[in-house]
Amino acid sequence: MDTRSTRAVFLDRDGVINSDQDLYYVTHPDQFVLNEGIGEFLKKLQDAGYLLIIITNQGGIAKGLYSHQTLAEIHKKMLQQLSSYGVNIAEIYYCPHHPDYGKCLCRKPESLLIEKALARFHINPQQSFFIGDRESDIQAAIKAGIQPVRTEPNENLMKYLQILL
Ligand SMILES: [Mg+2]
Ligand SMILES: [Zn+2]
Repeated sequence: MDTRSTRAVFLDRDGVINSDQDLYYVTHPDQFVLNEGIGEFLKKLQDAGYLLIIITNQGGIAKGLYSHQTLAEIHKKMLQQLSSYGVNIAEIYYCPHHPDYGKCLCRKPESLLIEKALARFHINPQQSFFIGDRESDIQAAIKAGIQPVRTEPNENLMKYLQILL
């Protein structure tokens, strides 16, 4: 029996937390725009006892489109905006690699970043969910034994609350 008691909702970033329209990569904090309803949605999950963890592929770093430092600034803006809804993100895990520039074990659809979070926070995967808008999110979730929730890019996620609560 799995005695780990922490429940988590894992979240993809682009297209789930923030708008993923024509940009393809968010390369500057000014381009980071929260999706409608995401603050309220995450607050509901947090209030229900879920730990919130972001797992994101940021291959633009490998491509030289932005730096680790710029990504940190983008994430600082994200955390500030979410905190205005009372939302606390436990951790952000990102893969900075891109297959055009070499193989890695952490880019979704691989599940290494999820596994790291499961171990660090003693999360029970069977009581957790992964919300993502791409097939690579779904595959990573399944590899880690977590139930996937597939969304459309940039949609208001409130309609998924009844699955999660
Ligand atoms: Mg996405
Ligand atoms: Zn990687």
